[in-house]
Amino acid sequence: MAKQQSFADKATKASLMKGAKCPVCGTMFQPIKLISSERSSTGTSWKFNERRVQVCKCNEKQVYS
Ligand SMILES: [Zn+2]
Repeated sequence: MAKQQSFADKATKASLMKGAKCPVCGTMFQPIKLISSERSSTGTSWKFNERRVQVCKCNEKQVYS
């Protein structure tokens, strides 16, 4: 878990240094962390999914809504 985290951080920094741009709208991607909760299949506990999303003008409305 801790290793995954640091790897993700490195990946984020790498993409920041590259200055990834969306080819569609030309906006710099902004990496954000989205955390969603969902019930496990047993229905007795919750688990949290963390995913990284690159946000640009194309998807910011969906992401932040
Ligand atoms: Zn875009």
